[in-house]
Amino acid sequence: MGESSNRWIRPTRRDLVSAVVLGAVAAPLTYAASARQKQENEEPLVHSEDLGLELVQWSRKMPPTPSFPARIDAYAAYDGGTTCGTASKPGVVDVRNLILRTYGNRAWSIGHPCTGGVSEHAEGRALDVAFNAYSRSSRKAANDFFWWLLRPDSHGNRHAMARRLGIMYAIWNRKMWRAYRPNEGWLPYTGTSNSHTNHFHLSFSWAGALRRTTWWTLQ
Ligand SMILES: [Zn+2]
Repeated sequence: MGESSNRWIRPTRRDLVSAVVLGAVAAPLTYAASARQKQENEEPLVHSEDLGLELVQWSRKMPPTPSFPARIDAYAAYDGGTTCGTASKPGVVDVRNLILRTYGNRAWSIGHPCTGGVSEHAEGRALDVAFNAYSRSSRKAANDFFWWLLRPDSHGNRHAMARRLGIMYAIWNRKMWRAYRPNEGWLPYTGTSNSHTNHFHLSFSWAGALRRTTWWTLQ
């Protein structure tokens, strides 16, 4: 551009005012778009409750969620397996079916032989479902499930579905979430050789395992 054209691109006072107004509108939109992109790329394991649900919900695959009143279960206390009765408990079977319907048929396991040591599996109230932490799509599916399980509900109840289902703890991809330490979030877990990178584990309270929590009693 030559010297002579400078006056055509020099902003007027009105142009500057317009730009400021436009910027005020455009900035939040740009921010929302980049937050979405960030969320998608990082596939965060869960439940940052301050991200804003509408920003992160759109790309997630989640089980159908019934509507519930505000009343909700207390967090499950720790009540580890001590007995042997490997028959699958009905609440655990329901959650297995919900997961397979939502994310497709895949390997799973509930009751384990009692010789395998003390575990909720030996009481039929633990569930393993195959997801692969090294596959992008499989990892996203599992993360989407945990997002659904641990997000606050419309009443502001934290970790709402985990409480309604009586989830006592969960282990997935080297991390563990404990209902009895809810403010600690996901903590590092190194308990087994694969550290749950080829499946996730859910342990249920007896109330959840026996369908006595609000997922079943208030639907
Ligand atoms: Zn397990």
